[in-house]
Amino acid sequence: MSKLYALTNQKGGVGKTTTCACLGTAFTELGKRVLVVYLDPQAALTTSLGFDPDSFEQTIYNALIDDEFPIKGVITETKVHNLFLLPSNLDLSGVEGELIGEIGWDRTLKDALSPIVKGYDFILIDCPPSLGLLTTNAPMAAERVIIPVQSEYLALRGLKQLNRIISKVQKKGNPKLKVKILRTMHDARTAHTKEVVEELERVFGPQVYQPIIKRTIKFADSALAGEPILIYAGRSEGAEAYRQLAKEVLKNDR
Ligand code: ADP
Ligand code: MG
Repeated sequence: MSKLYALTNQKGGVGKTTTCACLGTAFTELGKRVLVVYLDPQAALTTSLGFDPDSFEQTIYNALIDDEFPIKGVITETKVHNLFLLPSNLDLSGVEGELIGEIGWDRTLKDALSPIVKGYDFILIDCPPSLGLLTTNAPMAAERVIIPVQSEYLALRGLKQLNRIISKVQKKGNPKLKVKILRTMHDARTAHTKEVVEELERVFGPQVYQPIIKRTIKFADSALAGEPILIYAGRSEGAEAYRQLAKEVLKNDR
């Protein structure tokens, strides 16, 4: 049973943070208990969970730099029933410098999360838009990596580097790790969209999730309102797409 998912892509603005909030909310609608882990210092600024990052005195940062730190105490309830948050703030941007050179640095996140994994049906890890230490820690801790890919020309280019890191993690530390692709920000009016969608299917085959998340302003609107689209516009196409995704994950990923 897979429960730890890392949302990764070194490109920013592809929907990692949004997918954590929306897929997480969709899981709760199916009766699951979900934790979203912000591994991106900027996540709270773009998310739809409606938190002020400066309001947290302690965050995942404390758990990453201190292996005795009681991580449970940092977990916060969100306005979505059964959706919990392990927050971050700008403190986290300094963590890579502190971890570098430490023995077992790449397992820091895995170790930090280990006391709380049991308490949830799903844990979704939101990665920063970079290929740094934190982004390497996530696939070490996770069972699945979900790469949100914008359905646009050249989207595949950036995946090479990311795949290299994931292959290394699979070879050296986490052989059971599986990779999935989620097509996001799909804009049917753009000329290359169809090509990209088909190419992703050709290259990644069954690793590609069936539901496609379309581009719609409702995501930005819901983020402004501090609510996931499933709450803000519960009957919208975007909300439905994330519900379909949650069902597919439950059906096929376990
Ligand atoms: P990332 O975490 O990969 O940087 P975000 O999830 O923060 O990306 O999304 C970037 C911006 O795009 C946010 O303002 C978000 O509200 C918006 N957004 C997310 N998904 C969609 C979508 N399917 N259509 C349109 N806008 C979206
Ligand atoms: Mg983000």
